[in-house]
Amino acid sequence: MSATPMIQIEDLSKSYGAVQALRGLTMNVGKGEVVCLIGPSGSGKSTLLRCVNHLEAPTGGRILVDGAPVGYREQNGQRRAMNGREFAAMRAQIGMVFQHFYLWPHMTAIENIITGPITVLRRSRADAVDEAHELLAKVGLADKAGAFPEQLSGGQRQRVAIARALAMRPKVMLFDEPTSALDPELVGDVLRAMEQVAAEGMTMIVATHEMGFARKVAKKVVFMDGGRDVEAGDPEQVFTAPKSERLQRFLNQVLA
Ligand code: ADP
Ligand code: MG
Repeated sequence: MSATPMIQIEDLSKSYGAVQALRGLTMNVGKGEVVCLIGPSGSGKSTLLRCVNHLEAPTGGRILVDGAPVGYREQNGQRRAMNGREFAAMRAQIGMVFQHFYLWPHMTAIENIITGPITVLRRSRADAVDEAHELLAKVGLADKAGAFPEQLSGGQRQRVAIARALAMRPKVMLFDEPTSALDPELVGDVLRAMEQVAAEGMTMIVATHEMGFARKVAKKVVFMDGGRDVEAGDPEQVFTAPKSERLQRFLNQVLA
């Protein structure tokens, strides 16, 4: 079990001006593992995810994905900023699904999915289309290839967003409260799609308020508060035997 973790987060800190959003956070995610981030609003979950795919540049520490530093290259012990191509290649390896959907409104579901593979990965249109149909089937939307986003429910749009991220063949998938903006009856289908992705061996970090999902799917649950990983463990331990008073209080609130 000495394999390098797929995601290594080492002493990560991030400040926005005077706001310290992350205060020295260390975490490993093994290949094929699912880690769920839980914690109150403002605890730094989104910032952590945004640092992992370098939507935000960390203030301190470092992140490695599959052994490679995120956001820069190391040459002779020196950090060198990535050029545009290196940056695009890195981003393609790190899929992200947000709380609010970012589908292109003027494109059908399948066009949303194939654009990245064609333009960034240089796949042929025919291959990209074939794979997009498979991905749509996987997320339960085989019949929605030709639908525009406005013709889809929020949950369906979110599942297209998952398929679109998967089409880039990422090494890891990051989910930032993917169901928080959805009507309750639409949440289940999205969680099932995510569970399916996890079952196929994807390495995932999921910020979520869905404690049932965390309990069922996560290998590890990390409770964040104030920019720190206050407590972490397997779901059983975190949910049934929380050690810290802060986690106990949080669980009492969300499970009430
Ligand atoms: P969470 O996702 O757990 O709700 P966030 O990572 O969004 O937490 O926020 C962590 C802290 O960083 C909060 O205090 C928040 O107000 C602050 N923050 C997040 N993004 C920004 C930003 N772009 N500029 C300034 N402060 C920010
Ligand atoms: Mg957030």
